[in-house]
Parts: sequence; structure tokens; C-alpha cells
Amino acid sequence: MRHLRSVIVGLVASIVLSSLAFVTAGEAAIARKSARHGPKPSPSFKCETPKFRIVVDVGHTPDSYGALSARNDPEFGFNFRLARLITAKLKSEGFAATRLLVTDGKARPSLFKRVGAANEGRADLFLSVHHDSVPDKLLETWEFDGAKSYFSDRFSGHSLFVSRQNPHFATSLMLARMIGRQLKQQGLHYASQYTLPVMGRYRRQLLDKDVGVYRYDSLVVLSRTRSAAVLLEAGSIINRDEEMEMNSPERHEAVAQAVAAAMREFCEKR
Ligand SMILES: [Zn+2]
Repeated sequence: MRHLRSVIVGLVASIVLSSLAFVTAGEAAIARKSARHGPKPSPSFKCETPKFRIVVDVGHTPDSYGALSARNDPEFGFNFRLARLITAKLKSEGFAATRLLVTDGKARPSLFKRVGAANEGRADLFLSVHHDSVPDKLLETWEFDGAKSYFSDRFSGHSLFVSRQNPHFATSLMLARMIGRQLKQQGLHYASQYTLPVMGRYRRQLLDKDVGVYRYDSLVVLSRTRSAAVLLEAGSIINRDEEMEMNSPERHEAVAQAVAAAMREFCEKR
């Protein structure tokens, strides 16, 4: 069943990949080169809505699909559906230069491909879209669709991450806060567990306790991008109730609205 689902996700993704601008090995090499020398900041931070280049990154790849939900659906599919909607919403609100980024291949090399694509495309903002799980030790078992499956209903909510190593850390933090405030206005709550010892190596410093922005310095896609960069964990798919919400058009719309409203606010201030 798991295998079948990944095959389906793979098929969907390859159709999508054939119709999208796609990172090449050359771009990955540029990313590695820029990684060696450290990221050079992109030049300006003016915001002209039609020209402002937002790269909406679909977290993970069809081959390396990230977390598995409580009902055994791969994170990549959740990320793809939501990121596609966010991209469409931003374009419909005048951010015409917004681009959806889908990457293939294995996990680690795909991170450098993403950075390469964003830097080559002279992105102004890199927004990586993910869905959350929990450390393995917190997993419990249940039966779903006749198969032993894993879940944890202990935590729920979205969270935002930024890196101090990003050359536009202050702008990244400002953007993450704006998105967090808008998500809060949509009635959504953030995942507060990242400060807890139980999170082990996933434990993070909370930079904004009102709207759930955490610091994640070493993350490749946040630290190696030359543009401002924010990672959004849109919600937990290992939580059985929230997984259902993350599949609902209402939740998709709320998140996309929040991102678009935050971007409008950001650009109005420039
Ligand atoms: Zn992820």
C-alpha cells in the first residue's frame, strides 16, 4: 500500500515536473560553489508586487518523500498540493513572478538543487512548504486500512523557521512573523513543542512566542539561499485529526490567504 502510494505520487510528480522549470545539475554545481564561499546577499529589498520573485518550494521529493502521515500518505503530496495553491493565490493577488519549485532526487542533494534554483533565479523570497511529524520515540501504533500504522495526537499546529546564517536574517524573521500573525488571525495555532526537551535534536529556540517563529540556523535551504528564506511547517500530518484538516480545502485556503496577506503587508511597507 505504501509502495503503491509512492508510485502514484511519483507519477503525479513526473507529470508536474515535465511542465515546470526544473533545476539542473549545473544549477546544483552553482549552489555547491556558492555554499563553499557563503551566500552573497541578493542586492535589494524593494518590493514591486509584479516583479517580486517568490519561490514556493515543495518540501522533499517524490523519491525522498519526507514524513509519512498517520494514514500512510507521504508528506511530499501534502506539500505539493498546498504549495501549488499558495503559488496560485500569490499570482492571483498580483505577485506574477511567483514560481512553484518542485525538485527530484535524493534528500540531501535535492536541498542544494533547491538553493541553486532559487539563487540562479534571483529569488527575493524562498518559502519552503512542509508538513510536520514527531520524533520516532513519540510514535504510537494503530491500524489503518488493515495495516499497522503510526500516529501521535499529542501535538498539532503550524510552525515557522528562519536561520541566523541567512544573509537577510532580519527580513526573513519579519516575513515569518507576518505570516505567523496572519495564520493566527485565521484562527490557527502554532506548534509549541519545539522548545520542549522531549524534542531532542529537533529542539529549537523560539524567536516569537506570540506567533511561533523558531530559529533553525543550520538548515541548508534557509542558510544557503541568498534571498530571505522562511520554512513553513503547515500542520501536523502525524496527528490524526489535523491530518484530515490538512486535506481540507478550508485549511488550504486559510494558509494560502495568510501567506498572501503577509506578502501584501510586506510590500506595502516597502
Ligand atoms: Zn518536511
